[in-house]
Amino acid sequence: MFITVHAAAATVIGKNISSPIIAFLLGLLSHLILDLIPHGDSKMGKRFWGERLKFLQEKGDLKFMALYGSIDSFVLAVFLIFLFKNFEFARADNVIWAIIGSILPDVLVAVYKLKEFRIIKWFYKLHNKNHNLLVNKLNFDLPLQYGILVQVIILTVIIWTIYLVK
Ligand SMILES: [Zn+2]
Repeated sequence: MFITVHAAAATVIGKNISSPIIAFLLGLLSHLILDLIPHGDSKMGKRFWGERLKFLQEKGDLKFMALYGSIDSFVLAVFLIFLFKNFEFARADNVIWAIIGSILPDVLVAVYKLKEFRIIKWFYKLHNKNHNLLVNKLNFDLPLQYGILVQVIILTVIIWTIYLVK
């Protein structure tokens, strides 16, 4: 799921939790819960995109990750600027730590993919298992374009909520 969706959800959570540590943990938990929603990326990666985007064929996964990660991070940066410029509540520690908690899982996953640090292997596996849990159970994932649409809708609802809790 796009990292911005996670960060936006964590913003709402952080706003309602006064303890930064609990906000951090709930941010982390919210990441895993949101990932459960089938959102079209269970088969992403070289095989999916390699067929569509020729330039990704040669270097495979890493090139794909770099492209996807860059776009994802850019959108996150725009969201965070929007958030911190417009909402004073978002500058509080509880909100910031909730956001960090919500982003951390995908950072760990990316680090593991690049470096394969043994110490985070369990988390990498847990994240993947969780991410595909419902998709595998239902034996269904949305086509990616609908998955993106679902994520945009979720993001819109959350941003609307951010305005309401302001
Ligand atoms: Zn994730």
